[in-house]
Amino acid sequence: MTTPTPPPTTPSPTYAVLDGSTLDVAHPPILPFSISVEGLEGTGKTYFSLLTCPTPIVMINFGDRDPRHYLYSMPNDRRAKVRLINFHSRNPGGWTRQEAAESLSQLTQAAQLETADGRLNCGTFIIDSGSTWWQAVQEVHVAPLEEKRIASGEKQTGGLIYGRANLIVSGILNYIKNQGCFLVITHTKRQRWGSDGPVPGAFDPQYNSRVPYIVEVRLDLRTECPSCGGRDCQAKGHVGRKHIGRILKFGNNTGMVGMEIENPTFSVIYSLYRGQEFRDGTGS
Ligand SMILES: [Zn+2]
Repeated sequence: MTTPTPPPTTPSPTYAVLDGSTLDVAHPPILPFSISVEGLEGTGKTYFSLLTCPTPIVMINFGDRDPRHYLYSMPNDRRAKVRLINFHSRNPGGWTRQEAAESLSQLTQAAQLETADGRLNCGTFIIDSGSTWWQAVQEVHVAPLEEKRIASGEKQTGGLIYGRANLIVSGILNYIKNQGCFLVITHTKRQRWGSDGPVPGAFDPQYNSRVPYIVEVRLDLRTECPSCGGRDCQAKGHVGRKHIGRILKFGNNTGMVGMEIENPTFSVIYSLYRGQEFRDGTGS
C-alpha cells in the first residue's frame, strides 16, 4: 500500500512587489510607520501608546505592569476598539526558559491572528514593553549558547551568539510593519555604568540592537518639574510634572533630531512626520 503524496504547497512569499506605475498619487493612503517609545518608569510610554495612537489597537502587554486601568479611564468608543493581550511569567521570579519559549511562539501567533485580513489596517500594534520581550528572547535564544560557550571554555563570542535572537526580533517587527498598521514598541531604561560606577543622570534604553534601525521614529519621554525644570525635583510646593518627548530619530530627517515636544501625542508625531494631519481611516 502506498501513502498518497500530499499536494504541493506554495510557500507564502517573503517579499512583496510594489509597482510604482499603479500608485494613485493624488489620493495617498495612510502610510504607517513604527515608533520606539523610550523612557524611565512613569514617563508616559503606555499612555502615549494606548491613549493617543490610532484605533483599532492590539496591545501586547509583555511584562511588568497591568495596564487594565487605562481601559477603564478611556472613552467608550475607544475602549471598544482595543484588544489587550497579557503575557506574564507564572512566578514572581520572572520568566523560566520554557515559559519564555512558549510566550515567544504565542506572540508570533497572536501577531498573525490579530493582524489577519487587514483587520488592523491603519490601527496600531503595540508591544509594551519591548524591553521585557527582548529579555525573553535572550533567555531562549542567547543564554543557552552562552552557557555552552562558557562550558566549552571558548573565549570568543563574536556576533554569532546573538544572530538567532536578532533574526527573531527583526522578523517579528518587520512582519507586523507589513500588515498595514502602525507599530509602537516601548522600552524602559536602565542606569548607565562607567568605569567609576553609575553615571549620574545617564540612562540607556533596554532594547535589541537592531531596533533603532528597524523603527522610523524614536521618541524619548521624560518628566520635568514645571517650576524649576528639575528631572527629579523634590522641592516643596513644586507641584505637577510636565511630560516632554524628545525626538531621537525621525526617518531620514536629521533636522528634527533633538526637537522637544510638550505632551507628545501620536497625532503631533504623525503630522510632523507626514506633513499632514492624521485622519482616522481616510488617509487624506
Ligand atoms: Zn522643582
